[in-house]
Amino acid sequence: MEQLLEVRDLKKYFKTPRGMLHAVDGVNFSIPKGKTLGVVGESGCGKSTLGRVIVHLLDATDGTILYQGQDITHLNKGQMKEIRKDMQMIFQDPFSSLNPRMTVAESIEEPLKNYRICASRDELSQRVSEIMETVGLAERLAGSYPHELDGGRRQRIGIARALALGPKFIVCDEPVSALDVSIQAQILNLMMYLQEEKGLTYLFITHDLSVVKHISDEIVVMYLGNVVEKSSTQELFEEQLHPYTKALLSAIPSVDIHNRSQRIAMKGEITSPIDPKPGCRFAPRCPHATPQCFSAAPALTEVRPGHFVACHLCK
Ligand code: SF4
Repeated sequence: MEQLLEVRDLKKYFKTPRGMLHAVDGVNFSIPKGKTLGVVGESGCGKSTLGRVIVHLLDATDGTILYQGQDITHLNKGQMKEIRKDMQMIFQDPFSSLNPRMTVAESIEEPLKNYRICASRDELSQRVSEIMETVGLAERLAGSYPHELDGGRRQRIGIARALALGPKFIVCDEPVSALDVSIQAQILNLMMYLQEEKGLTYLFITHDLSVVKHISDEIVVMYLGNVVEKSSTQELFEEQLHPYTKALLSAIPSVDIHNRSQRIAMKGEITSPIDPKPGCRFAPRCPHATPQCFSAAPALTEVRPGHFVACHLCK
């Protein structure tokens, strides 16, 4: 299957007064065209930083980003301009990602004007109407401002802006976490419909495993900048191999009272991501940790076809 995006040993470190913060530390994965890779983990695991590095909102410290086989890791702003049409981002908080002084129509027009996509004012208006219809925004809202709309409609504007330039790849950074549960389902359905219609490829970042289950083909689980488990969505939900993934999944509330698994509490201190010590970063919280875990970091290893785990216990 053709890979649209590949990241190889990608790193993003930040200099802090206390040392180097390893936000993303040697991440590897690829996403086939038209598929969705979910990236999950607790807040602070580096998942949002990863998304921002991929779309060049942040520079990579090291590693390689391949887009359609082309190394885009060190392209400058001018070189990225053409590729940016293909690679878009949907943000978590639609309210803060939209300009409060722009109407719905003006927000959608902005990327089209920046790239001079339309030859005339009429063509621009026509294109904005089409995009609004695609994302389920009524035409009567064209002159409304973000504060006059609810969270679901605001996120539809965010999606409309991301779609305006006809992208192939979208990084979705917690796109439904600021929304009510009923609206979350509408936005997820819209995103799945658009993927089917337009052949989009998504990197879907979330802390919410029940959300990612619906939309992802594969899932990557991150812990303090590292990938600790990667597999197809179906296999990951049937059997988790890494102790951290098991704990994360045990925290999902189940409506089936006969099939509720025991919640695994994560005790112990979280390792500092600043100049982290050698060994497994999950060791201080892991109920199965051995002395080896505190001295040697486990490599991400394929333990079954397509199922990768970074744990000394899984070989
Ligand atoms: Fe736990 Fe050791 Fe596996 Fe890390 S390597 S998850 S500490 S058993």
